[in-house]
Amino acid sequence: ELLEGHNLIELVEDVALLLRSQATIKNILIQTNYEATEIMVFCEHSKIKQVLINILKNAMEVMENGKIEIEVSIKQRQAVLTIKDEGPGISEENLRRIGEPFFTTKEGGTGLGLLICFNIIKNHNGTIKVESEEGKGTTFMIQMPILTD
Ligand code: ADP
Ligand code: MG
Repeated sequence: ELLEGHNLIELVEDVALLLRSQATIKNILIQTNYEATEIMVFCEHSKIKQVLINILKNAMEVMENGKIEIEVSIKQRQAVLTIKDEGPGISEENLRRIGEPFFTTKEGGTGLGLLICFNIIKNHNGTIKVESEEGKGTTFMIQMPILTD
């Protein structure tokens, strides 16, 4: 697949639509908030979609109910995507290990989802950060360069 200009908002909207029915069954609300209607990034569409699905599915897997907030904004010529959940959070010890191959706390988990996400974002010249507080929730922050013409 080709690297092309894609509207990150549209991509997020597609994934939110894809996962919402599954979320609703678990009483999870996927909320979206966009600073603009179009934020173009140079990316492989299916790869960024995979990142979003992996992160959102992880959140949905650890939540019983509650809210996942997705926000897309622009900061210093970078697209900023944050995904904030109200799950149980990640302990400091585990936070250091996420993204390690095969690190999982789930029975039957592969421990590969976040490793794949981290690699995809790196390959897109982006950055990904995770903040978490036990008992409160977890936030993933992704930054990618905006495509300008
Ligand atoms: P898997 O989902 O197969 O366990 P991942 O690489 O996707 O593998 O995630 C690794 C681990 O990171 C999970 O097992 C879980 O412990 C932790 N994790 C990831 N996302 C979240 C989240 N949103 N809330 C709490 N823990 C998380
Ligand atoms: Mg996973």
